[in-house]
Amino acid sequence: MTKSQKPKAISYKLTIGWLYPDLMSTYGDRGNIIVLQKRAEWRGIKVKVKPIGIETSPYSLVVSDLLFMGGAQDTQQEIVNRDLQDMKGKVLIEQIEKGIPGLYICGAYQFLGKYYRTADKKKLPGLGVFPLSTENPGEKYPRLIGNIVIEPKIEGLTQPLVGFENHGGRTYLDYKNQRLGDVKKGFGNNGKDESEGIVYKNSFGTYLHGPILPKNPQLADLLLTLALEKKYGEKIRLEPLDNSIEKKARETVMKKLI
Ligand code: GLN
Repeated sequence: MTKSQKPKAISYKLTIGWLYPDLMSTYGDRGNIIVLQKRAEWRGIKVKVKPIGIETSPYSLVVSDLLFMGGAQDTQQEIVNRDLQDMKGKVLIEQIEKGIPGLYICGAYQFLGKYYRTADKKKLPGLGVFPLSTENPGEKYPRLIGNIVIEPKIEGLTQPLVGFENHGGRTYLDYKNQRLGDVKKGFGNNGKDESEGIVYKNSFGTYLHGPILPKNPQLADLLLTLALEKKYGEKIRLEPLDNSIEKKARETVMKKLI
C-alpha cells in the first residue's frame, strides 16, 4: 500500500468487534485488525473497532458487522472459555448463524468447535457452532510449528494463503469439504489429512497466525466485502488497492517453502 492512495468519498460504515484483545492476541494477531481498518479506510469506509472483553456486554456483538478473535495459549483459553459459556457465547453463536462475517484464529477457531481437549487432558466445551473438535495429544507430541501455505477452496480467493502456525491441538472437521483450503506446505488442521481451517456460513476459522491478513489482502477484502454486503444488502465491489508490498511479503514466505 502506498501513501498516494486517496480514500474515496462513500458513506459506508463498519463496526469491527474485536473479541478479547487482551487475552486472545498472540503472534501479532492485532495486525489483522489494523489491516481490516486500514483497507476499509483507504476506500473511504468509516470503521469503528469495538474491543469486546470479559466485562463487555454481549450487546457489543449484536452491533458488530464483522467479528475477529485471535489465538492464545491454553491458560487464556480457559478464562475466555468460561466467559463464552454464558450469554456472550449464545449471542456469538446467533451472530455466526445469521451470517455475520468473522475471522477466528487458532485458539479462537478451536473454541467454536464442539470441544478442545488440552495438553493436560482437560476437556473444554466449545460453542459447537463449527462442526469440528480438537485434541491436544500432550507434551510428548511435537507442536505443529512453522510457515504454512494453503490453497484456498472457496469462491473469492484465487491466491494461496500464507502464514505461520503454532499449535498443539489437532483439529478434525466433521465434513472435510468445509475446509478453508488444502495444505501445500506445513501442517494445517491436524498434520494428517491436508485440510486447513474451516468456512462456515460467512465465518472463517484457521490456524494461520503471522498475522494472516497483512500477507493475504485478498482474504481481508473478502471479509470487508461480506460485511458490507450483509449490512447494506447490496452487491459490493471494493476499489482495488496497490498490494505490491503485501505481494513481496507473500513471495518471501513462499520462496522459503516451495
Ligand atoms: N492452545 C492452542 C494450541 O496449542 C492454541 C494455540 C494458539 O492459539 N496459538 O493448540
